Amino acid sequence: MHTALVTGVSGQDGGYLAEQMVAGGASVHGVVRQAEELPSHLAALGDRLILHELELDDHLGLARLLDRVAPDAVFNLVGVSSVGWSWSEPVLTSEVNGVFVARLLQLLWERQERTGLAIRFVQASSAEIFGGTTMTPQDEDTPISPRSPYGATKAFAHGLVQVFRARGLHASNAILYNHESPRRPTTFVTRKITSTVAAIAEGRADRLVLGNLDARRDWGWAPEFVDAMVRMAEHEVGDDYVVATGVSHTVADFVSAAFSRVGIADWGPYVSTDPAFVRPVDAVELIGNPARARDVLGWKPQTGFDELVGRMVDADLA
Ligand code: GDP
Repeated sequence: MHTALVTGVSGQDGGYLAEQMVAGGASVHGVVRQAEELPSHLAALGDRLILHELELDDHLGLARLLDRVAPDAVFNLVGVSSVGWSWSEPVLTSEVNGVFVARLLQLLWERQERTGLAIRFVQASSAEIFGGTTMTPQDEDTPISPRSPYGATKAFAHGLVQVFRARGLHASNAILYNHESPRRPTTFVTRKITSTVAAIAEGRADRLVLGNLDARRDWGWAPEFVDAMVRMAEHEVGDDYVVATGVSHTVADFVSAAFSRVGIADWGPYVSTDPAFVRPVDAVELIGNPARARDVLGWKPQTGFDELVGRMVDADLA
C-alpha cells in the first residue's frame, strides 16, 4: 500500500493506524473536522501525515478528496464510538456510522469503475452487532442482533460492506471487540477506571462510581487491533474478520486489576454504583473467536488482560 486514507484519524485507532502506516513507508492522509484540535501523537508525525478537513455530509467534497489523494487503501474509522452516548443521539449516530459509510462505499466503487484502479477498503465494524446474541463466543457467522443504536448503525454499515464486496470492491469488515489503550477517552469504562484509580492512588479522588459491574467484555490492546486491519487491506481478497482476544472479563475484574496495580487489594470501599451509568439495554457478554484472523491473516493478540490494565494504569499515573 502506497497511499492510505484514514477517516477518524484523530481517534484512538486512527492515531495508531497512522503511526503504523507511516512507519511502513506509506503516504498517509487523514480526514479531520474543520478546526479540530489534534492530539499530540498526530502532531508528532509532522508532514508525514497529510490532513484534510471535511464535513461528513459533503458528498462533492469527499469525491474531490478521493480524486486528489487517489488512495489505494481506505480505512473507515470515523464514528460515534460511544455505545452509551448513542442512546441519546441515535440520529447523529446513524448519519456518522451508517449514511457516511454508504456515501464512501458508493464513491469508492464509482471511482474504481471509472479509473480501473482497485481500491482496498476496511471498515471498523463492531462486536456490538452481536449485542443480543446467545452464542458464545461469536464468530463471523453469528447472526447479527444489535441491542443499541450504536450496534444497529454498525450492523447497517457491516451489511453495506458485504454488498459492495459482492459488487466488486475489495472491502473488509474488521469486527472489533473492545480494544483499549491510554488514548481511550474516559467515557469508556476502562479508561474511566484507570484514570480514577490513578487519582485515588495519588489522593486526588476518593471514589469510583460505575454502572453495571457484571458486564463481560473481551478487551484487547488497540495497536494490535489496528495491525489486524492493515493485514486485511493487504490480504488478496476482502472478507469479514472477528478481531478479539477470545478471553472475557467482567467490569469488576477490570476494577480489581487496576486497584491491584496501585497496591490496593480491598477495593470495595472505593467503588459504588449509580443507575445513571447503567444502559437501557446492555450487551452483557461479548467474546470473539478470532480463529479466521489467525488462520488467514496470521494475526494473534499478544497483550494479556493484566498487562493491558497495568499499562493503562501506569500511563495515568505518569
Ligand atoms: P462498549 O462496550 O463499547 O460500550 O464500551 P464501554 O467501555 O463504554 O462499556 C463497557 C461495559 O462497561 C458496558 O457493558 C457498560 O455497561 C459497562 N459499564 C459499567 N459502568 C460503566 C461506566 O461507568 N461507564 C461506561 N462507559 N461503561 C460502564
